[in-house]
Amino acid sequence: MSDIEIARAATLNHIKDVAAKIDIPSDAILEFGPYKGKVSYDYLKSIEGRKDGKLVLVTAITPTPAGEGKTTTTVGLGDGLNRIGKKTAICLREPSVGPCFGVKGGAAGGGYAQVVPMEDINLHFTGDFHAITSAHNLLSALIDNHIHWGNELNFDLRRIAWRRVMDMNDRALRSITVGQGGPGNGFVREDGFDITVASEVMAIFCLARDLQDLEDKLGKIVVGYTREKQPITAKQLKAHGPMSVLLRDALMPNIVQTLEHNPAFIHGGPFANIAHGCNSVMATKSALKLGDYVVTEAGFGADLGAEKFFDIKCRKAGLKPNAAVVVATIRALKMHGGVAKDNLGEENVEAVRKGCANLGRHVRNVKMFGVPAVVGINRFSKDTDAEMEAVKEYCRELGVEAIVCSHWADGSAGTEELAHKVVELVEAGVDQYAPLYSDDVPLWDKMRTIAMQLYGADDIIADKKVRERFRELQEQGYGHFPICVAKTQYSFSTDPNLKGAPTGHVVPIREVRVSAGAEFLVVICGEIMTMPGLPRVPSANSIHLDENGWIEGLF
Ligand code: ADP
Ligand code: MG
Repeated sequence: MSDIEIARAATLNHIKDVAAKIDIPSDAILEFGPYKGKVSYDYLKSIEGRKDGKLVLVTAITPTPAGEGKTTTTVGLGDGLNRIGKKTAICLREPSVGPCFGVKGGAAGGGYAQVVPMEDINLHFTGDFHAITSAHNLLSALIDNHIHWGNELNFDLRRIAWRRVMDMNDRALRSITVGQGGPGNGFVREDGFDITVASEVMAIFCLARDLQDLEDKLGKIVVGYTREKQPITAKQLKAHGPMSVLLRDALMPNIVQTLEHNPAFIHGGPFANIAHGCNSVMATKSALKLGDYVVTEAGFGADLGAEKFFDIKCRKAGLKPNAAVVVATIRALKMHGGVAKDNLGEENVEAVRKGCANLGRHVRNVKMFGVPAVVGINRFSKDTDAEMEAVKEYCRELGVEAIVCSHWADGSAGTEELAHKVVELVEAGVDQYAPLYSDDVPLWDKMRTIAMQLYGADDIIADKKVRERFRELQEQGYGHFPICVAKTQYSFSTDPNLKGAPTGHVVPIREVRVSAGAEFLVVICGEIMTMPGLPRVPSANSIHLDENGWIEGLF
């Protein structure tokens, strides 16, 4: 059965009954139909003083383009922990609409480890992305309007840093000209669209601790520069107030359920390249007050996802993760062992063994943050016992346990062993989370530390212009910001074809951008995409309504 068929065959519980599992009173749920809700600010305020539960991160090895099952494993482990009697909440990102119509593949888990109602979650959901898009574009409109009425702040029209956004894959909008059609339409200038999840508003939304913090951060966004290269902020345009108004309701965390009726918060969805790729701090912090355990996911492989989760989200939000699960698949390990894409379905124990170097590096990296780890082998039907034994053997030598999980096929029954192991790791109380670098390390050295310690690089390099920009930002008061690396997720290096655990490479830095509102420095290594396109045959071609009005073809 396809994911959507499994999801549709499920009977869902009322969202208030789901919320009751973590003792959320029914009047604290703002309903969006019977199966979706938001948790009210008043209620969240009332539980602020409570003790936090345990936080478990699900991350992964360097993936194949198909994804190795972090979301699926996050859902499966959440259900597994509930199954063994731990009151557990799940925290995930909200999917973006655009990619749903591009390359096939959802963001709500898969098989018997899904969050539901999956069609709603994947499409529109509770309207948060609409609110974020509107807030972003209000700021865009205010910039051009300000210039139209006299440009008192002296924007240099060539140095406007704030683009426009929409939640659709539309490559034709990457670079556009605005203001055409005569003086009544403003000044002509170059502009462009990014996808909503790439908006700094999205990153801020996900890092904000509350509404006040949201407004403060929005005010700090640098939207452009004067001819003297002085930054102009959203606050100078008085945009932070109305933007917060548009975001007010959206900032309440959304709650839905897994196929096994366990609570899942799905809130915020920043890109994992030019942003930090984790669900909202509001959701994670709320979940920690409500569950004994919270399982969450960070986008991309552990070199990007886990690093940003630890170095950006946990650092800023004061979170202390207690354990991590590194998801590995036999197919990805084979790829790291040198097997071509078309042959990943055939047994190849030797390649699996060879590919384990990639897993080993990720496990070592996670432990470098002081977080104990366990490997979860996400089992696919074609995987053989000999292949899985090879991974286990490698992990035994490495001093980490590897547990085969079959949640995709079996639901929580397939993660019981992993759940017990996670509890054991957490209860051992050996976690000593600390970020990789401290705030006061210079920006350049922060990036160098990440590249050398986590990526296995010998050094980082950049043109004089980029190095000077680092120096400038250091002097302009951004020196304490953490780094948000934008690089390929397909390799530890910046070359997507360099598999396994490469060493001796050098990381070239192309560009740096400051996200002054989200309070991190984006370091761009290689090509990055902020507005995806659609493939030659987009999945939109097969998505339609059947004669009863049901959605078909969505995964
Ligand atoms: P990630 O979050 O790491 O990108 P997902 O959990 O979204 O990965 O999984 C990617 C895709 O692979 C989904 O379509 C999911 O249904 C599918 N998938 C995950 N695990 C399995 C499995 N064990 N067997 C078959 N398909 C799987
Ligand atoms: Mg995912």
